[in-house]
Amino acid sequence: MATETSRYSIETRDVWRVYKLSGQQEVAALRGVNIQIETGRFVLLKGRSGSGKTTLLNCLGGLDSPTSGEIEIFGHDLLTMTDQQLTKWRREEVGFIFQSFGLLPTLSAYENVELVLRLAGVSGRERHDRALYCLNLVGLGKWADHRPYELSGGQQQRVAIARSVANHPKLILADEPTGELDSVTAGDILSLFRTIVQQENVTLLMTSHDALVEEYADYVVRLQDGQVIDPTAVL
Ligand code: ADP
Ligand code: MG
Repeated sequence: MATETSRYSIETRDVWRVYKLSGQQEVAALRGVNIQIETGRFVLLKGRSGSGKTTLLNCLGGLDSPTSGEIEIFGHDLLTMTDQQLTKWRREEVGFIFQSFGLLPTLSAYENVELVLRLAGVSGRERHDRALYCLNLVGLGKWADHRPYELSGGQQQRVAIARSVANHPKLILADEPTGELDSVTAGDILSLFRTIVQQENVTLLMTSHDALVEEYADYVVRLQDGQVIDPTAVL
């Protein structure tokens, strides 16, 4: 697996995730996934519905545990970490973006972003400056005081992106982030991802089944029935 000198920030080895259903039934959502991803890349995980994209993303983000295999991310061996260690790691090093935005409806755009910094123990002044910086980064500086219901879908996803980068994560995981957006808005969000990967030096993994996304990503990893099918996509 990765060592201090590895050029890869994410490495998985033979990752399986088998869901036990009732009785003797099982579903193998991931069947021996091997991927290697360099730091500072924008990677698309592509595959049909049910191919295992969400399961893989959740395993990479420590939200789910593989049944077997190894996952090493920025020097952390995920399968040996306790829940407490995983929670701390997620808070400090990972940003999440979801299809349905996941903003807190009673908080303004600014407050949604500021909250993650508060949870991370960032001091008042720095919290304020960073939250505003991130809202400006996504082009929403003027919308800081608006609540989610006053914003369009694309704008809400921008707030979610600002929130995901606020705490200087090394890794951002985005599950179908353009799934609820029209194609023009989706294109804007994908351009923004490119900017963020460059400016914030973050590694970004997103899932999608949309062909449009391939134009923006550095690499495409194709999943089919829980396996990586395109060997050239093993980075
Ligand atoms: P995708 O995100 O590519 O649509 P998923 O990772 O959600 O795929 O699902 C992969 C496979 O695992 C599917 O067959 C799905 O039905 C199954 N699956 C996902 N989550 C669960 C679960 N919690 N329990 C049982 N089966 C699941
Ligand atoms: Mg999914």
